[in-house]
Amino acid sequence: MASKRQIHVGGVPIGGGAPVAVQTMTKTETADLTATMAQIRRVAEAGADIVRCAVPREQDVEALRTIVRESPIPIIADIHFNYTLALKAIDAGAHCIRLNPGNIGGPDKVALVAEKARAAGVPIRIGVNSGSLPRHLHALERENSVEALVTAAVEFVELMETLDFRDFKVSIKSTNVPNTIASNRLLSERIPYPLHLGITEAGTKWSGSLKSSVGLGTLLADGIGDTVRISLSTFHAEEEVKVAWEILKALQLRERGPVLIACPTCGRLQFDMDTVVAEIERRLEAYKDPIEVAVLGCAVNGIGEASHADFGITGAKNEGLIFSRGRALRKVPQEQLVDTLFAEIDKYVASGKQL
Ligand code: SF4
Repeated sequence: MASKRQIHVGGVPIGGGAPVAVQTMTKTETADLTATMAQIRRVAEAGADIVRCAVPREQDVEALRTIVRESPIPIIADIHFNYTLALKAIDAGAHCIRLNPGNIGGPDKVALVAEKARAAGVPIRIGVNSGSLPRHLHALERENSVEALVTAAVEFVELMETLDFRDFKVSIKSTNVPNTIASNRLLSERIPYPLHLGITEAGTKWSGSLKSSVGLGTLLADGIGDTVRISLSTFHAEEEVKVAWEILKALQLRERGPVLIACPTCGRLQFDMDTVVAEIERRLEAYKDPIEVAVLGCAVNGIGEASHADFGITGAKNEGLIFSRGRALRKVPQEQLVDTLFAEIDKYVASGKQL
């Protein structure tokens, strides 16, 4: 179930009933300020609530100070192996530290980071990854990998509680979708802390989006998960953000911008719907309102679907019937369909009325 506790990463509430937050990670060298800031601005524009930057070197933590100051959204510093970089990242103003307590040099080092984070009011994300479980859980991992992941996460949670640090969220990540689903379900029953969801190394834009949609969508539909990151092998981090938003919009967990409904087409289609839908999708990117637009190939389902949406088109032979807020307006030739539809949308948006 959704976490009972809430933390704040910068000004973004996580868990405890807050909207599911969209995260991504920069793919630039963090120390390359120009490239990193350009990517952060692009992901923020695409709708990222929070962004994570890798901090593997001293020069990255130095750059972090400027990044935190200039970023329009909160920054999480991603730290592995070197706890001193975590301490320096807190000094640099990071809004959250992501670390894996299993690879940061032992409980003493975790305690030092927790102490500094508490003093600075900075939360921590505890990351447990199927590729880096502690040695004492390797036998259990071979027997029951889900139990091993959850046990590792619970042990780290207990460590943080022993340190009297409770300002954290937890992520369990696996490349395996069923294991991700099962382990997060189990973990959500065992701990009250916010959960960050992701399928690690999910793959390319196509396969990674699908794997993430299945894994994260299943959990989110159950009410599990407080923040999400889609991991895709693309340099364009904003693509990850767009996929995350489509998942949240599909589950009606959050609203952002238009929703396009389009039929898959079949042998009844009698106009060039491919071109029309692609053009509508492209032009809708400029709109911020949660407009629902339906494009249906023919009258079979078209009349009902187009009239239920805010705006719609039902296709016929080389033409289409335009709908606006439930009313059929008029038939127009195929080449005028998109312009006529957007003239109606613009008229309505300009009127300032609520859709
Ligand atoms: Fe086929 Fe018409 Fe249904 Fe589209 S709306 S899939 S064209 S029957």
